[in-house]
Amino acid sequence: MVQDSIRILQAQGYKVTKPRRQVLEILEEAQESLAPYDIQRLLRRQGKHLNHVTIYRILELFCRLNLAHRVLSSGGFVRCSLGKREGCHRFVVCRQCGAIQEFADKGLCQEEDRFAESRGFHTESHLSESSGLCSDCYRKQVKQNFIG
Ligand SMILES: [Zn+2]
Ligand SMILES: [Zn+2]
Ligand SMILES: [Zn+2]
Repeated sequence: MVQDSIRILQAQGYKVTKPRRQVLEILEEAQESLAPYDIQRLLRRQGKHLNHVTIYRILELFCRLNLAHRVLSSGGFVRCSLGKREGCHRFVVCRQCGAIQEFADKGLCQEEDRFAESRGFHTESHLSESSGLCSDCYRKQVKQNFIG
């Protein structure tokens, strides 16, 4: 997966510098969204040192190339798990455990476009995120309510 991202970077004419590779690897292993400071801490644990501004610039580049996304609710970053897929990349985020799932649905995009168009608006891209409970957390909550 890191290899895929590296290929995309190279195809767009970007050098695969050591810091870029390190940030890619951290994002790849992460289960939750990470703030630049989280990434810095995780790297430090491996004996690697990148300053916060460098990490932030790398994340900005990755977002621009769709290798990573910013999660709206947490402000953290996750690697893109979809690659090239039609439609904007969106997230469902569990407010309990932080689990994130990414999806894209072209039909949903078209529907939003139509809605905006009927108000005279020309849409260029969509940002959306659903907050709630993942299936595990939902099941736990239902069980708890049943017992309690
Ligand atoms: Zn994505
Ligand atoms: Zn959950
Ligand atoms: Zn869209």
